[in-house]
Amino acid sequence: MIKESVRKSKIQKDKKRSFSYDLLPGPYKTLKELVEISSQSKNIEGVQKAQNFCSDILEKLGFRIEHIINPTNKSAKLLVATRKGQSSKTISFIGHTDTVGNPESYPFSLDLGNNKILGAGIADDKAGLVSCFTALESFISKTCHHHHNIRVIISPNEEVGSPGFHRIFKNLGYVSDIVLGLEPADISGNIISSRSGNRWYKLRINGRSAHSGRFGESHINASHELANIITKLSRYNNEFKKIRVNVGSIQTQFKTFNTICGQSEAKIDVRFSSLEDREFIHRKFLNILNTPDQECPYTGDTVKSFYSIEDDCPPLSNTSRNEHLLESIKESIRLIEGKKIESIHSGGAADINYLMNEFNIGVDGLGPSGGKLHTTNEYIWADSLINRAKVIHHTLNALEKNYENGL
Ligand SMILES: [Zn+2]
Repeated sequence: MIKESVRKSKIQKDKKRSFSYDLLPGPYKTLKELVEISSQSKNIEGVQKAQNFCSDILEKLGFRIEHIINPTNKSAKLLVATRKGQSSKTISFIGHTDTVGNPESYPFSLDLGNNKILGAGIADDKAGLVSCFTALESFISKTCHHHHNIRVIISPNEEVGSPGFHRIFKNLGYVSDIVLGLEPADISGNIISSRSGNRWYKLRINGRSAHSGRFGESHINASHELANIITKLSRYNNEFKKIRVNVGSIQTQFKTFNTICGQSEAKIDVRFSSLEDREFIHRKFLNILNTPDQECPYTGDTVKSFYSIEDDCPPLSNTSRNEHLLESIKESIRLIEGKKIESIHSGGAADINYLMNEFNIGVDGLGPSGGKLHTTNEYIWADSLINRAKVIHHTLNALEKNYENGL
């Protein structure tokens, strides 16, 4: 009996599914097709299929397509699509097709009773892409000759940090006046006005090793100096300003008790929410390195410090310069969704960070509102797909109007 009722409910569910899918409006069909392409970051062939799916859509909208080979890492190609406008100003969208989960174990499904659509990578970041395409389609159909160049950048490996593409993002950032990130809004629909940046320092201190029991021999303990450096640096931790200096790893030359350590290394991760704070910490770091405490009691020699910057991800800053853009997006959401939302800070970096510099402005979280990212219950609110497409369309209209008004 139990088996029979399970079978019946499955048939009913399947019927419901095929029935619903046939009636899906265009953007939902596109989303279903995109979600059904298996594109976990490591699945290069699958990700490339998803990238090609997106480039076909953009090509039909009059975008010039570039597929850029990863210069250093193994991945599918970066997609950069550009539609020329009549001015030199550029709006760049940034999103990604790679996902954490896969549709084989977590397929596209509708739960319209709860206003949800579920699926692997649906919120992060496939629905964001589909909202963007939907907005562009309606925008271009009404505004064939737009002022701004419109660029859509789609990463094939964002979920693993987009290795290999950071320099290209940086260069694209310098030719972007406004950057709009398609990462999901949170479950309440809040958008992201700032994201912390990070800088990773690999620090090596060279002292002079010796036996710790022998007196009269020259020695400088590199680990003692490293301990001093960490103590001084950690004073700049500031939760309120979202500055964090974190030592994630320390390695020393020896593993014994009776040795004066001649070489010591640390991996330091600094987080900040503005470029000014990044420079502030960097200056303090250099000052600390230039004024070492440890010296040889016999020769007066001091330690030598070497550092390299292993990753340098700028922040998406919430400055007065992007206030107007933020207000305009919030107002669009109020008009379209009938609710007031907030702009929030996110501690984690995303691709948009690498496009940011001191000249441009950006906002992230313009994708549909969703939750349970990277889990087997990842979802978006079903109506959010269309609503956020409308918000993006509104925003493009507002930016065009600003340009006409010389703003
Ligand atoms: Zn993402």
